[in-house]
Amino acid sequence: LYRAKGAGRGRTEVYDPSMGLSTATTLHRELVRAVEEDQLVVHYQPIVDLSDGHVVGYEALVRWQHPYRGLLLPGAFLPHAQEAGVSVVLGQLVAARVVDFLARTTDDGRWVSVNVSADQLGDGELATRLLAELSRHRVAPGRLVLELTESSLVASGTRIRHELTQLSAAGVPILLDDFGTGVSPLSYLRDLPVAGVKLDMSFTSGIPHDPTAGKVVRALGALARELAMVTIAEGIEHEEQADHLRRSGWRYGQGWLYGAAQPMG
Ligand code: C2E
Ligand code: MG
Ligand code: MG
Ligand code: MG
Repeated sequence: LYRAKGAGRGRTEVYDPSMGLSTATTLHRELVRAVEEDQLVVHYQPIVDLSDGHVVGYEALVRWQHPYRGLLLPGAFLPHAQEAGVSVVLGQLVAARVVDFLARTTDDGRWVSVNVSADQLGDGELATRLLAELSRHRVAPGRLVLELTESSLVASGTRIRHELTQLSAAGVPILLDDFGTGVSPLSYLRDLPVAGVKLDMSFTSGIPHDPTAGKVVRALGALARELAMVTIAEGIEHEEQADHLRRSGWRYGQGWLYGAAQPMG
């Protein structure tokens, strides 16, 4: 990244060489269009039971079918969604897509989890909107799961506690995503209605070479189980990682070993 002065208004714009000739401003315009013209797609990555590999749920992951740059991963555009003013509507689109998918498929006990951004959390209407969407489509609340990161919780402050309690009481489970990487995950586990944790893949990738990572994984698993929380490990690419996680008490897992995110239905 390098910075250049924007012409005229004296603004500083950030240019990303990977964007080629387009500027951040162009990207913002394109993102607004992507939302308007339905260029965002949702892919689903399986979450499996580590004991036998059967699929227990899916994580919905957004992608952008860009008109000429191909299929873009969230890292390439989500950081710009806020500045472009589309992060709340983007999140709503993904949730709507997922609820629609759930409505069209029979309830086979599998859930779909959706990542929620700080802007959506701060919006003040997350619970009301999601619960209305579920009831309009007659989808049982437990089939939708929300994934929140500690950073999104920090950014949205304490007033979302009420909304999360409302969602959780209605039957929508809340998972703490990227577990283990934040500053104060334990206070969130104590203070918020968290049903489970998703172990950040940086821990998984430390297995088996890094003995400390292995021990931390075991201790975090024990903590989550002590709190009667669902345990899901991310980024499992090798069988020996799955073995270690299983032996460390991690119940569910997700990663390329079991399947990458793909379009569905
Ligand atoms: P996340 O929620 O932690 O999602 C897991 C990420 O790890 C996904 O990247 C997934 O494709 C990737 N992954 C899965 N298995 C493996 C593996 O075995 N090895 C490796 N190296 N990676 C694996 P993706 O799809 O690029 O998403 C990145 C992040 O973008 C997500 O991290 C999430 O924080 C965010 N995100 C994705 N979709 C949405 C969305 O609809 N809304 C919001 N607010 N955030 C989203
Ligand atoms: Mg996630
Ligand atoms: Mg994660
Ligand atoms: Mg992550």
